[in-house]
Amino acid sequence: MSESTQSKKEQPNARSRWGLLVSGVVQGVGFRPFVYRLASEAGLAGSIGNDTAGVTIEVEGAETEIKSFLARLRMETPALARIDSITVRELKPTGEKGFRIVASEVLGRVSTGIPADAATCTDCLRELLDPMDRRYRYPFINCTNCGPRFTITKQIPYDRPQTSMARFTMCARCQAEYDDPLDRRFHAQPNACWNCGPRVWLESPDGKSVPADDPIASAIEVLRAGQVLGIKGIGGFHLSVDATCEAAVKLLRQRKHRYGKPLAVMVRDIEAARSFCVLNAEEEAMLLAPARPIVIARGRANNGIAKGVAPGIPWLGIFLPYAPLQHLLFAGARVRALVMTSANLSEEPIAIDNVEARTRLEKIVDGFLMHDREILQRCDDSVTEIVNGAPQLLRRARGYVPLGLSLPMESPPLLGVGGHLKNAFALAHGKVVYQSQHLGDLENLTGIEFFEESLDHFMRTFEIDPERIVHDMHPGYLSTNWAKERARERRLPLIAVQHHHAHIAGCMSEHCLTGPVIGIALDGTGYGTDGRVWGGELMICQYDGFERFAHLDYVPMPGGEAAIRNPWRMAFGHLRAAGFNLSDVATLDLLGITERDVRLLERMMDRGVNAPLTSSCGRLFDAVAAVIMGRREVDYEAQAAIELEGLAVDEPDEFGSSAHYPIEILDGDWSLREPCRLSVAPLWRGLFQDLRSGVSRSCMAARFHASVAAGFMQATLRARAASGIIQVALSGGCMHNRRLARLLRQCLEVQGFEVYEHHAVSPGDGGLSYGQVAVGAAMLQNRVN
Ligand SMILES: [Zn+2]
Ligand SMILES: [Zn+2]
Repeated sequence: MSESTQSKKEQPNARSRWGLLVSGVVQGVGFRPFVYRLASEAGLAGSIGNDTAGVTIEVEGAETEIKSFLARLRMETPALARIDSITVRELKPTGEKGFRIVASEVLGRVSTGIPADAATCTDCLRELLDPMDRRYRYPFINCTNCGPRFTITKQIPYDRPQTSMARFTMCARCQAEYDDPLDRRFHAQPNACWNCGPRVWLESPDGKSVPADDPIASAIEVLRAGQVLGIKGIGGFHLSVDATCEAAVKLLRQRKHRYGKPLAVMVRDIEAARSFCVLNAEEEAMLLAPARPIVIARGRANNGIAKGVAPGIPWLGIFLPYAPLQHLLFAGARVRALVMTSANLSEEPIAIDNVEARTRLEKIVDGFLMHDREILQRCDDSVTEIVNGAPQLLRRARGYVPLGLSLPMESPPLLGVGGHLKNAFALAHGKVVYQSQHLGDLENLTGIEFFEESLDHFMRTFEIDPERIVHDMHPGYLSTNWAKERARERRLPLIAVQHHHAHIAGCMSEHCLTGPVIGIALDGTGYGTDGRVWGGELMICQYDGFERFAHLDYVPMPGGEAAIRNPWRMAFGHLRAAGFNLSDVATLDLLGITERDVRLLERMMDRGVNAPLTSSCGRLFDAVAAVIMGRREVDYEAQAAIELEGLAVDEPDEFGSSAHYPIEILDGDWSLREPCRLSVAPLWRGLFQDLRSGVSRSCMAARFHASVAAGFMQATLRARAASGIIQVALSGGCMHNRRLARLLRQCLEVQGFEVYEHHAVSPGDGGLSYGQVAVGAAMLQNRVN
């Protein structure tokens, strides 16, 4: 029934009673006290209670008052709450007096779950820094509008005994706040103060507590001395150093064995962020969002941040304090910017437990800032960037998880296990998908353990016991093997989904597109149905199937996996495929190789040994970076492509503003399901001509980006001519490249296409599981129909 309940002629003094069911994010976010206040102000009687489907409200009073109450309910929703729907029914007035909050009862299937963690609100921040407040400088201050949620919760319902706050008994004053419906801390589960809550202390690397009057002040001195500090946060430990101190950053990198990959930097507030980065309005809004993600933004020249923080690229991953403890680190203005990077070795899961941190980080840190509020769910910081004016998640974790994502079709209980790198799984049921936090690379046992630990938690929390498992087609992924084993154990059917099909389906699902669409999936590696390494794909896509319409022409990857680590090998493969003479002295110099290397690699390719064929767009970026920038090796995934985008950052990025190199489309035969191929041989010839005539590197980088966009635009026009489709979904890890995303959108829109990009999940492999369950659900639905 709709909200506009039909009612009899309005009589001024007649009492009405309405029952409302509000669904969305309405539990653990201060919704009940908010409703209590609205109802009291309007003089309405009735009650509010939590329900498995959301909150139920009954209000009684004059109908005009009820209507304005309803309007305010929608207009003044608390910061962390989100109303998805309100269903209204008319009830018989009971003559009840006053408004009550009814104790929560949890029955049946849960659809509300646990809220995401939220940054310290402005009210709490004011109290934190107010010497007259009883929580002055208390590092765990929070209220119903802010504080940890997901990371401190063991299971539902989200109530204090189910959280790691259970062992802290509230003092009388905290309890009074907790019990008072008009207090900002009414039912704030982590409510605490100096007298009754968790505490912080300083520790030496070997776990001995260091006596200090003010452990936070002492911690700041450790940082100011250029040392590495392990700081226990909300979703795990951070490793921190002074971000303005070159030597400290170098020390951290050496100890963490992480050399090239950019490090995130936390700064005091938005003014400070502006002084370090050039920010547009969207980036500022992102920095201030309750999730407080890391935002990748353009760094200012000579901003004082150590060069070692983000070597070779013009951007900085910047974020603002989101926990009171972090605010206190900046409060005295003793430090300006802190590196805050997940406390782990390379791609291992982030450390959360005090004992675990001591053993794993002992050799990395010079001290720990510890606390005794247990972290129950590991959750890294989320990472975002603004692409074509809208936020895009590169890593979906703290502040976003476990909020549900919607699905355009009904799904039985399904598990999508995701991919190999940047793994996150997805559990679907009905029209909702719960995607896990970023779990990292599934390359070893610790990765799988984290996967299982988080899966157990999600299955219990959302009461979803998957009936089927969806996995990637790649036979070598650990996630695929895990899915097969689990399916055997539990006798569950499996669904295998092609990598790029899942990427595109995820983008379609985010926008509730019905399909078919033209999907452009550009990424590093995905297993193709022909057993080759795909990654520059144009597909006619539905949720339950796809046809490969066009792809980047195959080139060899000399050395297989080694070609991913050594972009010069990819350049070699590409140039050979394009018919270049590789023994030419200039080419040898350019790639930094010898004639012996050439003979070795050529023999490898001629015999087809360890030289798999790929249509990868990511590998094309690698090859071009090797030629233009001399990037021979990479320290982290997509490094060469990121640097290439960075090189072009100051070149105009309007489509048509720079020349581009030609990409030739080789005909396929659509009736025979033979895709067109995009040959980049002419691109290489154009690029080498520029090299010889001394065109600047940045200009060549810009021209290369425009070439890829133009090539795929041409192929998209062909796909439209063949299919009549005008909706284009963009996906794959290369869509993190803002220049490429911008150029593609521009040139496609000029041609009259509707262009869709990811926002809620990553276009890269972090978003894969979401697309997998969309494909799985659609396949199952069609089987039934
Ligand atoms: Zn607060
Ligand atoms: Zn207290």
